[in-house]
Amino acid sequence: MKTKRATSPAETERIGYELGLLLKDEPHVVILLQGDLGAGKTTLAKGIARGVGIKEIVNSPTFVIMKRYVTPDGFRYFYHLDLYRLDSLGGDFDLEEYVEGDGVVVIEWPMNVEELLPRDHLLVKIDVVGDDVRDISLECVGYPCKRAVEAI
Ligand code: ADP
Ligand code: MG
Repeated sequence: MKTKRATSPAETERIGYELGLLLKDEPHVVILLQGDLGAGKTTLAKGIARGVGIKEIVNSPTFVIMKRYVTPDGFRYFYHLDLYRLDSLGGDFDLEEYVEGDGVVVIEWPMNVEELLPRDHLLVKIDVVGDDVRDISLECVGYPCKRAVEAI
């Protein structure tokens, strides 16, 4: 486990960007983002997408559950899921329904479907320390993010 402190939104995005760069060549990696509303999950996700090579602006997919992005060369996919509204669906969530094929998958509010999440994942928790200060902890559970957590 590793904790990084960010003292501005730009710094949180930068940490996401570095994470995206480190993970972009993995065929499949699932990143779970935990933290309260306004903690900075979407800010971090924007950075991850940029690191993967996505040029489009990544916005919160709150009303669509999932949005898929592709790099201009067509080689890499970035999936952004927001499961905030999914707790009412109970056990009816199937990640594979949303995520077809390879890529970096980022999930906000993953604990709404805790039992249905993949065993191997990168768990990122964002704690609000102060107005602009966030502690971002990264823990690789299983494969394939250990190197990225060490390197960041
Ligand atoms: P979430 O997706 O967790 O609800 P967002 O990324 O959408 O959070 O919003 C985070 C909010 O907190 C933004 O308004 C942003 O400007 C503010 N903020 C202040 N400091 C930080 C920081 N260090 N990192 C991320 N966001 C920050
Ligand atoms: Mg969000």
